[in-house]
Amino acid sequence: MINLKRNNKGEFVEAKGRRSRKSSIYQPNQTEPFKLSRGKFEDFLSCQRCFYLDRVMGLASPGMPGWALNSLTDELLKKEFDICRAAGTPHRLFKESGLIDVVPFQHEDIDKWRDALRGGLQVPLEGSSILLTGGVDDIWQDQKSGELIVVDYKSQASAYPVRAQSYLSGTYHQAYKRQLDFYGYLLQNMGYAVAPVAYFYVCNAQKERDGFFGVMNFDETLVPYDWDSSWIPAKLEELLSVVNSDELPNANTSCEQCAYARERVIMETE
Ligand code: SF4
Repeated sequence: MINLKRNNKGEFVEAKGRRSRKSSIYQPNQTEPFKLSRGKFEDFLSCQRCFYLDRVMGLASPGMPGWALNSLTDELLKKEFDICRAAGTPHRLFKESGLIDVVPFQHEDIDKWRDALRGGLQVPLEGSSILLTGGVDDIWQDQKSGELIVVDYKSQASAYPVRAQSYLSGTYHQAYKRQLDFYGYLLQNMGYAVAPVAYFYVCNAQKERDGFFGVMNFDETLVPYDWDSSWIPAKLEELLSVVNSDELPNANTSCEQCAYARERVIMETE
């Protein structure tokens, strides 16, 4: 895919390939607060080198187009859950999924927590100036135990019905599980009691239709997931040693972008 840089008026501008905003770049051992999102933590897990080039050296990675339809299902689900939240009532899927005594969680900061741009969930990373952040899709509450339940909405279009076991074992869903692990970790470290089971609210577009006719229907499934944050502290420790070092970490040899960039340089200089 070819990405051309435009300004906010849609006009083409020169792509510089470097970040200009100082607050996006971490100086090794800096003492000023530095926000690190869940997405950037996931980048660190995928390739420490690219993470370092981005966060410490200020290399700007090419932009990605938005996922408008997926974002729309998220937005509409948020509105629907907010109706239940305001009324203090369970969502229509809860009963059939065995979620008794569960309602969407009411909290004055829920809108901030659900919006990464407004701060999201936040926890300081001990021994550093880093503030870990993450914008969670929703939080529900078990009214009996008081525990909070972490929720992530997912949209997809698969020909196969959603089944919990195959969904959770899917190769591309491992990052989804890490996402819920991270939100659970943040909420727990913010001092909340978090239920051991989190949920993916999966909207699967139905493909077996005779045409579009301006309508797309979805099957909805709640996939329970036993979240586990036990692996996170060691990875965060590793991350700290990487960002506070002057050494560029190794690249991930499975990365197609790196292979492309490398071969391109070779071809252009041959
Ligand atoms: S392997 Fe190269 S291009 Fe790929 S993520 Fe790492 S540094 Fe970036």
